[in-house]
Amino acid sequence: MKHFKNIFAICLISAFVFSCKTKDVVIASQEIDDIVTYLASDELEGRDTGSEGIEKAATYIENYFKDLGVKPYFDTYRDSFTVKGKNAFNVVGYLEGNDPNLKNEFVILGAHYDHIGFGEEVNGDKIANGANDNAAGVGTVMTMARYFAKTKSNKRSILFTLFSAEEKGLLGSKYLAETLKKENLNLYIMLNFEMVGVPLVGKDYTAYVTGFDKTNLAEKMNEYAGKKIAGFFAKAEEFRLFMRSDNYPFFKEFNVPCQTFCTFDFTNFEHYHKVGDEADIMDFDHMANFINTYIPAVRKAVNADTKEIKMNSSK
Ligand SMILES: [Zn+2]
Repeated sequence: MKHFKNIFAICLISAFVFSCKTKDVVIASQEIDDIVTYLASDELEGRDTGSEGIEKAATYIENYFKDLGVKPYFDTYRDSFTVKGKNAFNVVGYLEGNDPNLKNEFVILGAHYDHIGFGEEVNGDKIANGANDNAAGVGTVMTMARYFAKTKSNKRSILFTLFSAEEKGLLGSKYLAETLKKENLNLYIMLNFEMVGVPLVGKDYTAYVTGFDKTNLAEKMNEYAGKKIAGFFAKAEEFRLFMRSDNYPFFKEFNVPCQTFCTFDFTNFEHYHKVGDEADIMDFDHMANFINTYIPAVRKAVNADTKEIKMNSSK
């Protein structure tokens, strides 16, 4: 009887451990609301590179990573450089992959956390809060970090990279891409998130992807998600958006799929680089839905047995 009891106890414990392991982490709209509302608050004064406000933003992201057990990739979370004599730093978190071979390959999930600081004054408000641009992208990467840290479901290693000085000409991502190239990082793909705070209207996809026909990324993400989460947007080509965000320095250094996902189509948000880009006009239900829709596809990309997301040979 005692023996039987032990077996029963072991079964119960294994069932519990198994259910904990496989239990999925769902990102709630309140969680993304909290992050974006803080990063885009007046206290942070528009997170201009080299300002006190961006220092607070960096500390906030570092503490979030620390609480999750996401480690610094370098000696500290900060990857420091200077912009016109001012200190600037990317924040880089690292989650080692759980597969002995695939962990040597890296997926980078990125977003810029700087913004332009102050803008043209409207009704006494001078702070360009940068909620959509790009606290929303930062919140996306941070909550994805929480997902992977909690589920420990990544076979490849992941770098969670929040860039500074994007608004000064992609300087932070350029600095980091060059550093990682020098150390011969085995980069599989780089997925960047920009302006995902309000939904697209009247499109048959969740977000568009820049540099659409350079790679099979959109096709694979749609296959992984089982629905059309990534689409083609003609204006992204026309305005050369592929070259205008932090994916581009990585593409230049590594020549692997490095692309940006975005839900801003120039008609659904009128506060781009203006003081009205505030947290209270973000759609956090959309954001939670966006993140929870993307996570399973990102996870499948991170865990694919081979590097099946590829450059298209003719591009
Ligand atoms: Zn931006």
